[in-house]
Amino acid sequence: MTSRTFWAPHAWIDGQWQADVRLDVEDGIFMALASSIARSTIPQAEILAGPVLPAMVNAHSHAFQRAFVGLAETRNNAEDDFWSWREKMYAVARRITPDQLQAIAAQLFLELLAGGYTHICEFHYLQHAPDGTAYADPLTMAWAIRAAADEVGVGTTMLPVLYAHAGFRTTGLRAEQQRFKTDARWVADAHAGLAARTTPMHAAGVALHSLRAAHAQDCRDLLTHVAAHTPIHIHVSEQVAEVDESLAVLGTTPIDWLASHIGLDPRWHLVHATHATAGEVQAVARAGAAVVLCPTTEANLGDGWTDGLAWRDAPIGLTLGSDSQVCRSWTEEIRCFEYGQRLRVRQRNIGATPPGQVATADAWFTRFMGAGARAAGLPAWGLRPGARADFIVLDQEAAALEREPPLWLSGLVFGGHTNAFADVYVAGERRVHGGTHPRRQAIRKRFRSAMKELF
Ligand SMILES: [Zn+2]
Repeated sequence: MTSRTFWAPHAWIDGQWQADVRLDVEDGIFMALASSIARSTIPQAEILAGPVLPAMVNAHSHAFQRAFVGLAETRNNAEDDFWSWREKMYAVARRITPDQLQAIAAQLFLELLAGGYTHICEFHYLQHAPDGTAYADPLTMAWAIRAAADEVGVGTTMLPVLYAHAGFRTTGLRAEQQRFKTDARWVADAHAGLAARTTPMHAAGVALHSLRAAHAQDCRDLLTHVAAHTPIHIHVSEQVAEVDESLAVLGTTPIDWLASHIGLDPRWHLVHATHATAGEVQAVARAGAAVVLCPTTEANLGDGWTDGLAWRDAPIGLTLGSDSQVCRSWTEEIRCFEYGQRLRVRQRNIGATPPGQVATADAWFTRFMGAGARAAGLPAWGLRPGARADFIVLDQEAAALEREPPLWLSGLVFGGHTNAFADVYVAGERRVHGGTHPRRQAIRKRFRSAMKELF
């Protein structure tokens, strides 16, 4: 067993800054945390130079889409929307090899780590060879992503995706979707294969791509294979067209249909839920299900703004996802989300509730940490005993931290134009030091050659 003791001048514990903090770690897991401990009383402690924040779970990622960032920002049609973006994205998805995927994922994970995410829930639907035939090891693409995570030193929760149909009214997939083709049995086997190699760094769950791609029987079949604690993720209510089709074909809106025909419970993580109705928000709360918001992707794709006040006021676990990878920083995700809500309702400080008691950035940070452990299928998350020792050491000299501790998160989210994350630790090991990663050059080089081959 490896035991390490750290000491930090400040750490964010139980939703607030505490001073003179001792952090005890055994085999990469927090054993105990205590504040008001004089540094001189623990001479053996490793000193963390700045304030310590818990790292964030990235609850929704498609690693391969990092290859595509910045390449769909020109309008080629009279109307450019999610559906025209998807055609361009498929062009990349059709070609990418396992080696290229590993190179791209490593670059992505490096950037996410520098942006303060240390665990990535990978919503994984690129399963087969480009022509749709199975790889000799059906998990070839999943292992490529895990290998990238191991090289960088981040954790993953692989979510093999059930992807069976091209639309609500269509049976089967289009030619360009054959790489994604799975059914409930395939996903259950993939989950079993991934779960057999569970470690403190790597977990597994399952996903349904959407109600377009997984019809009623697919959902029911998958649930027969899923254990009581396994996270289930699904894209839902992201697009107005999806909601309209759900109304036409299923007779109700997608979240309502899930709640009433399949049954939601605390295993479920609804990704986007952008167009949820007030009734659906209540149904999610009643079921104890959680919601994954992906603000910069939803903005980039023109999906629409969700009713952030409804999510804020409901007792629902929330997380953030980087999704299409246009942004790899949770501070920017929180800023984008809050600004979108401000523009929507023409008010300020939407997240700060109850008024006068909490700063907006503090409130959203606490909320978006809330369902991280559950989304990732981990026993605990954050600066607490039993959680993996993942944390960020802030640069004490950064402009964002020039005021007193109660304003540090406000500075990071609303005032920071440079990354104030000096060091990032995963399982008690320092992976980013002084803002850089030891394998940065090698990973960048492989990423560049993969991009050259792809484009
Ligand atoms: Zn997604």
